[in-house]
Amino acid sequence: MIPFNKPCLIGNEIKYIEQSVLLGKISGDGQFTKKCHSLFHEKYGFKQSLLTTSCTDALEMAAILLNIEVGDEIIAPAYTFVSTVNAFVGRGAKVVFIDSKVDSPNIEWRDIESSITSKTKAIVVVHYAGVACDMDEIMAISRKYKIPVVEDAAQAIASYYKNNPLGSIGDFGTFSFHETKNIIAGEGGLLTINDEKYFPRAEIIREKGTNRSSFFRGEIDKYGWVDVGSSFLPSDMVAAYLYAQLEKVDEIQSKRVAIWNRYHSALSNLAHSGAFTIHRIPDFATNNAHMFYIVCTSLREREELRLWLRECGVMAVFHYQSLSSSEYAISRGMGKVLLNSDRYTDCLLRLPLFYDLDISDVDYISDCIINFYEGKM
Ligand SMILES: *Cc1c(COP(=O)(O)O)cnc(C)c1O
Repeated sequence: MIPFNKPCLIGNEIKYIEQSVLLGKISGDGQFTKKCHSLFHEKYGFKQSLLTTSCTDALEMAAILLNIEVGDEIIAPAYTFVSTVNAFVGRGAKVVFIDSKVDSPNIEWRDIESSITSKTKAIVVVHYAGVACDMDEIMAISRKYKIPVVEDAAQAIASYYKNNPLGSIGDFGTFSFHETKNIIAGEGGLLTINDEKYFPRAEIIREKGTNRSSFFRGEIDKYGWVDVGSSFLPSDMVAAYLYAQLEKVDEIQSKRVAIWNRYHSALSNLAHSGAFTIHRIPDFATNNAHMFYIVCTSLREREELRLWLRECGVMAVFHYQSLSSSEYAISRGMGKVLLNSDRYTDCLLRLPLFYDLDISDVDYISDCIINFYEGKM
């Protein structure tokens, strides 16, 4: 069976974990965490980077920093992972769900403005498959109404919008290093903060609501309880694994892009004939090859193809169930029918894509898909 994903081991992970253990400090904010923070700063220019235990936690930190409370509203796409909105819902906010675009699962920015009310406290966007949303338009709305933007960049490491790294454009960016993402640490995440006014409080929230970080820098002579917070920082062993991956980010990316391009050239004829659509990378965006997906013409065909691939020994998988159609959203009065989001729920199929996937396997998988459609004609 060709799995859908296999966690990547690029070389120095185990060596660095051993080093972190032998250094005698394996709690958070040790040597490797600092190395990761500087690398993010140097390579992507993030003003502030804080490693977290997950992207979910980075989103929770953003919700705390934005003082989200009961009665607030946030705007978010329906076609996303639960954590994108749960971080805000957990603090009492209601989600106003927005549809995806016709030609992309990303948020339809044209529908944002009419959904803004006096209660709107954040616009949360998701760069699906690592492909940038329409950030100029979204940031213009944000400035007009003075509503902060959170970029859920969980899938978007090493991806750009008009030469700006994703995660550096909104007020906050949140990344995931879960083992299914491009750069991994098992479980892990990153909060990027692009507005300095949030810096001091972010450190405190991440350290259980204490000013321990400034104590360790020698700025104060004792630390205490100054705010709400939680334990959002990962062990330095996790950062050690992550650092080994980050050092090789270009190598990992070029392999993934080669796989993506191979799928694209093998399947583009079928896509031209109308069998399905392959996702388009807009001119303003780069392709970080987080995902290769196709959008079939119906739920039935997507399921037939998925099961056919399974018979061929290939694990292809669908993705999100539109959150606006979920039981929870409906029970909380947040349910609605969003046609594009529901279509991606029904018709989107993701193909195996991971660092160790052989090009010959990509060819095999593509042939299986071609055979499926030839059998139908
Ligand atoms: C993976 C993912 C998350 C969650 O990341 P974790 O690190 O597992 O918490 C959130 N949002 C999106 C869009 C994701 O793809």
